[in-house]
Amino acid sequence: MTKANKTLLMLPGDGIGPEVMEEVRRVIAWLEKRRGVTFAVTEDLVGGAAIDRHGAPLADETMAKALEVDAVLLGAVGGPKWDNLDFARKPERGLLRLRKEMELYANLRPAICFAALADASTLKRELVEGLDIMIVRELTGGVYFGTPRGIETLPDGTRRGVNTQVYTTPEIRRVAAVAFELAAKRQGRVTSCEKANVMESGVLWREEVQKLHDERYKDIALSHMYADNCAMQLVRNPKQFDVIVTDNLFGDILSDEAAMLTGSLGMLPSASLGAVDASGRRRALYEPVHGSAPDIAGHNAANPIATILSFAMALRYSFDLEEEAQRIETAVKDVLAKGMRTADIMQKGAARVSTSVMGDSILLALDRLAA
Ligand code: NAD
Repeated sequence: MTKANKTLLMLPGDGIGPEVMEEVRRVIAWLEKRRGVTFAVTEDLVGGAAIDRHGAPLADETMAKALEVDAVLLGAVGGPKWDNLDFARKPERGLLRLRKEMELYANLRPAICFAALADASTLKRELVEGLDIMIVRELTGGVYFGTPRGIETLPDGTRRGVNTQVYTTPEIRRVAAVAFELAAKRQGRVTSCEKANVMESGVLWREEVQKLHDERYKDIALSHMYADNCAMQLVRNPKQFDVIVTDNLFGDILSDEAAMLTGSLGMLPSASLGAVDASGRRRALYEPVHGSAPDIAGHNAANPIATILSFAMALRYSFDLEEEAQRIETAVKDVLAKGMRTADIMQKGAARVSTSVMGDSILLALDRLAA
């Protein structure tokens, strides 16, 4: 029996966040009962829910808790109720504060195409069936944060907008190391993407990734690709990739492109990882890619799979419970193969189910797998 006593902070947030998080709670209860894995789970507020209670999208005490636990699992934040607040007080600021203070510099976005959903992709089945890519996006540097930045008015009255793409050796090396280590547990291949043909920061990126590879990760097959070519290759032949590592801006675009190869937002998990501290623990935040979906909130209609798969990533990357992570992923595959579909992934001939029935079905599949 696997034993663990790991700390998890759950932040359900707003809209469908609490509904999808409820299904994760049931998966945790299943793991505790059937697999003897124990978690120390605490729950708190983020986003609009925290604004309503504390007047701020993330209370200082919640931030402090997030820094103490092994992993944070977040549902979603935001909604029309808080749309008119100042930017500094909006629900999304809660999420940005978590990312900033936890120093989460590596964003992991898997793009996995489940066989049962291959026809939902905009690409042909043979191009996406069995797809399993991991995109590692640098999250705290690059052009979104570089200075100088701003808009100025020139003497002739026209205006000039400036952003600065800037990366340093340590910023590149730490995110590349995450990619190499992930690849070592997957197919052993990393594609590093930049625009070294036209950008000095891209030349530096390429050189530093290569250098780190030659020093420490010689067993991994490393290739370099211009980011625009990568965008084309993702729709031409996506299965050529294993792990893609890239900067903040290109990663923003390429990860959304790769995600959409696989179908619905309701299926997409993510992880954001920070540095390993002295005790060997890596700060980590897990969350579905989707938002709070106010249009369906409260209707028991949301797809809980993205959040359940985010929790599976937490099992894999924060709790070292690979077997349990795979068990959950297999249960999800099983349920999809049996034709269970929430509205967002509905297909002809399938059974349309609610959030809670999708949760029931995943628990039943877990039971079957454990039998
Ligand atoms: P969204 O992801 O909430 O919804 C986009 C569309 O996808 C909607 O039609 C929604 O019903 C559907 N959808 C999303 N998740 C689903 C799921 N699990 N199951 C079934 N259908 C699903 O994006 P949006 O509409 O642009 O934003 C709504 C709110 O969420 C806004 O306040 C936005 O700021 C916030 N938001 C939060 C996050 C986050 O918390 N990380 C991310 C994006 C948007």
